[in-house]
Amino acid sequence: MIPFDFEYHKPTSLAEAIELFAQLTEQGKEPLYYGGGTETISFSRLYQLFPRAVIDIKGIPECNTLAYREGKLVIGAAATLSQIQASNMFPLLSWCGGRVADHTIRNKITLGGNICSRIPYREAILALLVSDCELIIWGQQGQRRVPIGQAYNQALLLEQGELLVQIVLDQEITKMPFVSMKKTADGLVNYPQDRIGYPVVSAAALKKDDQISFAFSGLCSFPFRSRELETLLNHPSLSLPERVKRAVQCLPSNILTDMSGSAAYREFVWQNMLTAMLQDLEG
Ligand SMILES: Cc1cc2nc3c(=O)[nH]c(=O)nc-3n(C[C@H](O)[C@H](O)[C@H](O)COP(=O)(O)OP(=O)(O)OC[C@H]3O[C@@H](n4cnc5c(N)ncnc54)[C@H](O)[C@@H]3O)c2cc1C
Repeated sequence: MIPFDFEYHKPTSLAEAIELFAQLTEQGKEPLYYGGGTETISFSRLYQLFPRAVIDIKGIPECNTLAYREGKLVIGAAATLSQIQASNMFPLLSWCGGRVADHTIRNKITLGGNICSRIPYREAILALLVSDCELIIWGQQGQRRVPIGQAYNQALLLEQGELLVQIVLDQEITKMPFVSMKKTADGLVNYPQDRIGYPVVSAAALKKDDQISFAFSGLCSFPFRSRELETLLNHPSLSLPERVKRAVQCLPSNILTDMSGSAAYREFVWQNMLTAMLQDLEG
């Protein structure tokens, strides 16, 4: 049970949603955009969130898009992880999002909600980070279209009241070779129905023009893609074991220690994953 009352709004246009957010903020109601609501409800039940109003974005047509348009794949922020997985329009995203929670919960969790969530894992973003996609964001100033490399730094960089509306990527990217791996405290998650759990390490790698891009979750306290790490891992004249050994020097922050695993264990798991991913994509 949520131990307080809150207003529920379901706008049918972007302009209405943005305006509502401004009005509710002015009224001191600390509104939140509402995708699947799984995090908002869980945190509210735990007395960690007290929104006096939520703005459900599932009635906004642009947020529900899942289509190819003029050589691009356009994914609305309110598309659920199940819809994305079932469509399989971007197989790497199907894998990254398809190992989050279980099927029933993925019927609720939205792509936007997962990548804007407060948890440190946000696994669906791994596929977006390596795909060099663009984000369509709406706010009081109208629309902005930003490459993910500029819009994401440890978290999505949204101004107060801004709404992530769509993710846009080249259709070509969806056909590139990829590897996606996830290990929880209980073991490797090889397919979506396998094991539910937050990752010890989760990884995505995509090969384009002989260069492999990588993104990781669970290793540090935020998901990341590191250009420095990619330069090392794609180095043409270093052996695979040498690249993997040196990789730890290119991490953007300390390796996480928590109940699922110590930093030393995570590093071990990560190095094994790197080896497997490089072997797979380098052939
Ligand atoms: C049992 C269980 C297991 C899970 N396991 C994993 C896991 O292993 N890995 C993993 O990554 N996740 C996992 N999750 C999911 C994660 O914890 C979040 O619950 C989920 O990602 C939130 O998605 P949502 O659509 O329900 O978001 P919501 O609860 O609707 O929103 C979450 C946050 O994002 C904001 N938001 C939502 N949409 C937008 C938007 N379009 N623009 C701007 N802000 C927005 C909201 O305001 C809110 O602050 C698990 C969840 C459960 C319940």
